[in-house]
Amino acid sequence: MAFSELFLQELAERNDIVDVVSSYVQLTKRSGSNLFGLCPFHSEKTPSFSVAPDKQIYHCFGCGKGGSVIGFIMEIENLSFPDAVAFLARRAGMAIPEQEDDPNAKKRERMLSLNREAARFFYEQLKAPSGAPAREYLQRRQLSGRTATNFGLGFAPDAWHSLTDAMKAKGFTERELFDAGLVRNRNGNVYDTFRNRLMFPVIDVRGNVIGFSGRILGDGEPKYMNSPETIVFSKSHNLFGLNLAKKSKMGFIILVEGNVDVASLHQAGFDCAVASLGTSLTPEQARLLSRYTNEIVIAYDGDNAGQKAAQRAIGLLEKLDMRVRVLRMEGAKDPDEYIKNFGADAFRNLLEGSENHIEYRLQSVQQKYDLKVDEQKVSYVKEAAGVIAQLPGSVEREVYAMRVAEQAGIPNTAVLDEIKRQRKNKLRTAQRELTRDQLRPIRQQEKRSGVRYENPHSAAAEEGVIRLLYLDSALFHSVQPPKPEQFSSPELRHIFTVLLEHAEQKRPVSLAALGETLSTQELQILTRIIQQDDASDRREQALADYINILSTDSLASEQTDLRAYAEKLKERKGYGGTK
Ligand SMILES: [Zn+2]
Repeated sequence: MAFSELFLQELAERNDIVDVVSSYVQLTKRSGSNLFGLCPFHSEKTPSFSVAPDKQIYHCFGCGKGGSVIGFIMEIENLSFPDAVAFLARRAGMAIPEQEDDPNAKKRERMLSLNREAARFFYEQLKAPSGAPAREYLQRRQLSGRTATNFGLGFAPDAWHSLTDAMKAKGFTERELFDAGLVRNRNGNVYDTFRNRLMFPVIDVRGNVIGFSGRILGDGEPKYMNSPETIVFSKSHNLFGLNLAKKSKMGFIILVEGNVDVASLHQAGFDCAVASLGTSLTPEQARLLSRYTNEIVIAYDGDNAGQKAAQRAIGLLEKLDMRVRVLRMEGAKDPDEYIKNFGADAFRNLLEGSENHIEYRLQSVQQKYDLKVDEQKVSYVKEAAGVIAQLPGSVEREVYAMRVAEQAGIPNTAVLDEIKRQRKNKLRTAQRELTRDQLRPIRQQEKRSGVRYENPHSAAAEEGVIRLLYLDSALFHSVQPPKPEQFSSPELRHIFTVLLEHAEQKRPVSLAALGETLSTQELQILTRIIQQDDASDRREQALADYINILSTDSLASEQTDLRAYAEKLKERKGYGGTK
């Protein structure tokens, strides 16, 4: 095992689950000793995500996710077990013990050092005589040498093996280059992935070079080429420039489309710009952003694709309760061009006057229709009313209704009536969804638990034994524990065996420390079991009952087996007899 149980236990003790979860989830309700909030892992309207401070576990009654503080960080930050441990160790200011025996950690480390070396190589190529085309490109885009250094920009030469040769000379293998996405392989011929491109290293918030984004110098496709997904790089979980933007004092983050926009905004003094790596904003990226700011300014390109991407981003960010504004750049297709045409001050003014997203949406709706045509006017009012109907405040709704009425040249009341009608419809849909949400836990309970019990009678007993073994293992010192065979599924059997081992050796047990011994599914089953109420005042009696049930049940099934065996024997004899 990579980490000792002692270390994992201390780690969990120093990262209180309520503290950790609270920085992602608002725990607004309390029921008994448990805290409840809206689940970050599935969409819901009533809280079914619970945290038990006394047991230091979380459990969602809706989607079934659950586990220790380490499991929570793995899930929400999308980290591997060792990475989640490192994350929490940093949070608590603890040193991580050496873990030489973790092959994946070693591989990751190796890939990160290869990426770092590759970035250095590209950087040197930009300064070399052969880097002239890239330097000319930077000049044309008016990006300074300081900006290039700030972002660690580089140049991938127009050659098939320059990076491969340089990295091999540093001791990296073709296999490692391939795994990192730096070379491609066609019929056994290995060649550099990035050729004749301006190279943007993608650096995560911890300062690791995790991948690359290469922009073509001339015309040609694709404009941006990104590293493929690797064990250290996931496009949907990272943003270009966030390593710098997270240090910004501007109080918000500007979301743009291209890496060049990011660089040129930083150069103009807007050090809070980031770009989603060639994808439209993903839910994971939105969540990542919400860790650093609660206000986003979207400055996407003015074309159709850009507008559509902006709409999607607004939806994702609003779900996380973030303030969203949208920049409308008249006279330029993107922020880079805007700053070139009108200067940084003009861009600053634009930022200050940027519309909130309702105005932006209304304008986008309006642009779709010709208001001189009566039919289109009706469609405009209907669609605009749909946008306004989403506003929670009635005064706000009236203000925007007035504006729409004015534009369409119809009375206010007509727009307000339409809004009222649409709100009623929405309410009805919401109520339907609510009932579905409330029913879901019961349906999923059966589907997800992954355990099939012989009968409900023994199910409660099997879980009861496991719960007590986890919560109060001293009880088992004075009784004859059940046998693993008495549990009805391999998962429960394994959980029981592991817990019993701890109890017999009088070793303390915690969910966090079991993170490496039990599978994710087993951890979830165990979490579900230990979060259930137990009769803490009469545990001894409960345990005796459980053990009793298990032995009667297995005796019964043994007897059934015997009977069946006897039947078979009889049949065979009878068969043989007539012959
Ligand atoms: Zn959930």
